[in-house]
Amino acid sequence: MSQLQDDFGRKFHYLRMSVTDVCNFKCSYCLPDGYRPDGKPKFLDLNEIENLVSAFAKVGTRKVRITGGEPSLRKDFTDIIRIVAANSDIHTLATTTNGYRLEQSAQEWYDAGLRRINVSVDSLDPRMFYQITGENKFDKVMRGIDAALEAGFERVKVNAVLLKGLNDKDLPRFLHWIKNTPIDLRFIELMETGLGRDYFQAHHLAGADIRTGLLNDGWQRDASGAEDGPAQNFSHPDYQGRIGLIMPYEQNFCASCNRLRVSAKGKLHLCLFTESGVDLRDLLQSPQQQGELIERLQQQLHHKKATHFLHQGVTGVTQHLASIGG
Ligand code: SAM
Ligand code: SF4
Repeated sequence: MSQLQDDFGRKFHYLRMSVTDVCNFKCSYCLPDGYRPDGKPKFLDLNEIENLVSAFAKVGTRKVRITGGEPSLRKDFTDIIRIVAANSDIHTLATTTNGYRLEQSAQEWYDAGLRRINVSVDSLDPRMFYQITGENKFDKVMRGIDAALEAGFERVKVNAVLLKGLNDKDLPRFLHWIKNTPIDLRFIELMETGLGRDYFQAHHLAGADIRTGLLNDGWQRDASGAEDGPAQNFSHPDYQGRIGLIMPYEQNFCASCNRLRVSAKGKLHLCLFTESGVDLRDLLQSPQQQGELIERLQQQLHHKKATHFLHQGVTGVTQHLASIGG
């Protein structure tokens, strides 16, 4: 069966699957007032998740990232991991988490088949961490990262959103940390969302400035692997860790897009910043619907645009990234 491909020749072998909108943190750039339930949401169940992943795998998906909201708040999170890991076409299974459940669950998730993990740590200063996330959980999250390293994860990545006036003084601490710790740090440029212009203008920090500093300090740009997508990666002979920059405002950011997103309520999002998602849920109820589901996916890909329109301030339907997983 032919792979998922759009009209610009981009192939999509990476699915970011959100399993919940719920989150227990209040990151100031994401859910500053905390999660507010909208009615009684019904997120994809295990059967729907299995059918979804199985259809995507049939048309070339080889990597799945389970995200949210905070995915580990799902009581059946380990079962979700097990179901996706059981699909032999999925070669890479990852999750993105705020680390809240990591300390007690890293080994259980690893044993269920999870192999890569991204933990969000926006500051290495506990007070700043609290200020940004609204939760005084810095030590707990850091113990979680140690537990993940011990559990045997192939890659432990740490995501930090670059925030002017908040964590912009933290770079030396981050660098000191990864000198002797094999962490892949990922600095993510703040993206404008439905939170509005004011927050964005007050805190957006260009990743390009960090890149210049790194290159001046002897960091070298790594060649991009097929799986890397839009991240720019850097390494340094004196450091065990590596650094990745995600700069959605750079030209050509979308040219290497290799991912599709499905929300926790089963909507396909061709881009983080599209105006609306396309419902897939009616076709997730039984494996017999797989052919029809694949047809819908293939048709939808003709609508994928060459780039996002963030530069023009078009943030689409994405009120915050907790709703479709970032
Ligand atoms: N709750 C999990 C976490 O925080 O890791 C997973 C979901 S969260 C939406 C996924 C990633 O998106 C996190 O690394 C978060 O920092 C990032 N993120 C959220 N809002 C963002 C924004 N406006 N700009 C850039 N990154 C953002
Ligand atoms: Fe929650 Fe993640 Fe959003 Fe922070 S970034 S509020 S942890 S979903």
